[in-house]
Amino acid sequence: MTEECVCVAVRVRPLLAREVLNRHQVCVRVVPGSAQVMLGSDRLFSFDHAFGPTSSQDEVFESCVQPLVESCVQGFNATVFCYGQTGSGKTFTLGGGQQGEPYEDGGIVDRVVQEVFRLLQEKKKNNEGLDTRVRVSYVELYREELRDLLELQNIHKELHIREDERGNTVVVGVKEMVVTSTEELLSIVETGNALRHTGPTAMNEHSSRSHTILTLHIDICCRGSSTPPTNYSQSSKLRLVDLAGSERSGKTGNTGTRLKETAHINTGLLALGNVIRALTDSRRGNSCTNTYIPYRDAKITRLLRDSLGGTAHTLMVACVSPSHHYVAETLNVLQFASKAR
Ligand code: ADP
Ligand code: MG
Repeated sequence: MTEECVCVAVRVRPLLAREVLNRHQVCVRVVPGSAQVMLGSDRLFSFDHAFGPTSSQDEVFESCVQPLVESCVQGFNATVFCYGQTGSGKTFTLGGGQQGEPYEDGGIVDRVVQEVFRLLQEKKKNNEGLDTRVRVSYVELYREELRDLLELQNIHKELHIREDERGNTVVVGVKEMVVTSTEELLSIVETGNALRHTGPTAMNEHSSRSHTILTLHIDICCRGSSTPPTNYSQSSKLRLVDLAGSERSGKTGNTGTRLKETAHINTGLLALGNVIRALTDSRRGNSCTNTYIPYRDAKITRLLRDSLGGTAHTLMVACVSPSHHYVAETLNVLQFASKAR
């Protein structure tokens, strides 16, 4: 079994209309024809992919997400997460469940869901003994408490994370719904989105203060009639994660409750950074040593444990604003992301 690396993409969003009106200057540029990003005039960062303000949702999906979906249908776990400060484009990039929006605007979630069903159909066409099933769960981590976004009647019930004997992460009591079409799945996501915790901060009215994790479980079972019989079953998970804003608390004028939220959020993001760094280090040369991976430090890393590292495929999309107003936060994000590779 080969160990997979963390693939890192950076996406620089366009200046927003109000930023143009307020004469924000662009201070982040993608070096044409490369996967490098220049901050200001002298800081260069390298990634696996770099998308500029004119890159489409489809481009992002085709170049770095589609291969992950494919490997997931082949039985590997995978995680995509969007990292970045509030207002940098994480939710835009991830998308999901904005029914009625034009296809071009659909984000990673919309395209992943469609691709999963397409690939499963294709697989079935080539093998009549194949049974496939897609299950979905959708949870939110808010102040280190895990809640079910599909449990409309009982949103305050706290969920707990366990690991089974094979090292799979199990969320005890989480609602999993079997879905049979793209439309059905996306409308479930839309309902879940309505339950997300949002709160106004000085930076973005609807900034998200929580991490959300959408999980697609793909089960494939084959009842082969050939000789020798080719019975097998596989189950894999594809996780799509919208992380809370990475900004430091001081910057946003946060106080009281919101400051406490920020502390929890930073614990999670710090732990995630440490896990990714440990995974990257263990792959760089010291593959014979068993590097300690600090999964247990936060709920987000415990939850993602079985789909980060090992044979799982991981994609981080680091989102940044081009505006010179956020240069300090953008520098943090670019440093975090370039260290993850
Ligand atoms: P975050 O989830 O990181 O807080 P959002 O996804 O809400 O940020 O994006 C902030 C604003 O920027 C939204 O109005 C969104 O529509 C816009 N935006 C983000 N990325 C892009 C993009 N690539 N192209 C056009 N608009 C974008
Ligand atoms: Mg958001």
